[in-house]
Amino acid sequence: MTGINLKCSCGAVTGTANAEKPSSGSRIICCCSDCQAFAAYLGREKDILDEFGGTEIYQCTPSQIFIEQGHDNLQSMRLTKKGLLRWHTSCCNTPVGNTVKAGLPFVGLIHSFIDAYPTERDNILGPVKMAIQIQDAIGTPTYEHQAEKFPFGLTAGLVKNILVWKIQGKHKPNAFFSKDGRPIVKPIIAHKQA
Ligand SMILES: [Zn+2]
Ligand SMILES: [Zn+2]
Repeated sequence: MTGINLKCSCGAVTGTANAEKPSSGSRIICCCSDCQAFAAYLGREKDILDEFGGTEIYQCTPSQIFIEQGHDNLQSMRLTKKGLLRWHTSCCNTPVGNTVKAGLPFVGLIHSFIDAYPTERDNILGPVKMAIQIQDAIGTPTYEHQAEKFPFGLTAGLVKNILVWKIQGKHKPNAFFSKDGRPIVKPIIAHKQA
């Protein structure tokens, strides 16, 4: 099976993301202020965000992700009470990914947890499709493909994928939620800085 290695910055947490073909998921860059706030919360803006404040994310399913070592170092947080469940490592504050809830077959895997050069990411995961939420970008973004908010076509594609993934049962196995549907660690609720 083709996959890509996962590793936090200090190496305590490792794993694999299976990606049999590039269409197993899709890569985007999110410039939203929440993703920027998450990087700031972890004190990692410099190495997580690109020059326009974007975070590169691989949208895939929980069933593709295997944590091999360092499970105990996974920590979760929400920027607001109902916000996305954002995962990072407690050993070295590496952003891992974003999830919604146990039953939803979706993980937005963050590039910082992917142990591969950009060219390898392109080859295995496919090219970045688009930068979204550019209304929150820093400066004047000049991505090849970019859009404000969540463009309809991209959102519709993701919703369709999620429905298919749900039918295929790809929310399981799930490294982030226990069998009863609860996050494996209780999320910290951070208050979003203005
Ligand atoms: Zn670490
Ligand atoms: Zn975002």
